[in-house]
Amino acid sequence: MDGASNRMRRLPAPTIDFCTALIEATNGIGSPVTQANIRAQIPPPTAVAIEAAFHTGAQAALLYSFPRIASGAGDPVVLGNLRKSDLTKLYTQYFVPKEKPARRLYDQLKITANGKCPLCGDIGHVRTLDHYIPKANFPIYSVMPGNLIPCCRDCNSEKLNAFSATLAGQTLHPYFDDAKFFDEQWVNARVIAGTPPVIEYYVSPPAHWSPTEGNRVAAHFAEYDLAERFGIEAGADLPETIYTRRTTLHGFSPHEYAEHLREKSENMSLHVNNWRRVMFLSLANDHWFCAHPH
Ligand SMILES: [Zn+2]
Repeated sequence: MDGASNRMRRLPAPTIDFCTALIEATNGIGSPVTQANIRAQIPPPTAVAIEAAFHTGAQAALLYSFPRIASGAGDPVVLGNLRKSDLTKLYTQYFVPKEKPARRLYDQLKITANGKCPLCGDIGHVRTLDHYIPKANFPIYSVMPGNLIPCCRDCNSEKLNAFSATLAGQTLHPYFDDAKFFDEQWVNARVIAGTPPVIEYYVSPPAHWSPTEGNRVAAHFAEYDLAERFGIEAGADLPETIYTRRTTLHGFSPHEYAEHLREKSENMSLHVNNWRRVMFLSLANDHWFCAHPH
């Protein structure tokens, strides 16, 4: 396994900056007055400062403490004379639609994940961009590339509009969070004996992590419903493994079979928290599964 694939679910931070995103989004606005007003309210030095503060906050996991507009607070003024709706429209009307010039930036951001969703660790295919902090509560970041994460439809719809107001409740940010969340194993699984066996996923952060770090991965796991979604994937995958054990590998001793499963988990070039890698490891470690004739 090479280093790149080991870390594949951490994404490189976007190379497109906020100024470029603002210029392109406002290029799609038909009214010259509206376009000039938005550009005047967020001139390049302001955009640079807002973006720098966001990046610093994201790297320090402090976005939870950024000022937010309460849900249901209407359409307040956010910056200069710009209201929340002026800023969220930059995304919905001038960044996403296929005929708008900023759509090329949207597509460019989407492809950085190489098609696989970083939030659920490869289950889903990338179909959309997700606002890490929601545009309804943090409209100033509605077209900021660092706030736009490529993801699958399931992850996008699992996520409610609310963003955690606590440090420990924040999900992982694939561009900015510490490498440990992506390089070290915190997804684990146990085998529930039965016919068929069931793989049950759970969170087990490394012992040297802080309680807050452990709580954050638990929040991520819960937010994207990963116990259930990983379990469904494993349930669909397991019959083939059992069939191979019964046929091609039926001469293997329990120990040989456990070694085979362990090698399989390592040879697939999957990242450490990938459901399939974790599944093969938990099967290899389970004496009942390796010894049972099925
Ligand atoms: Zn996903």
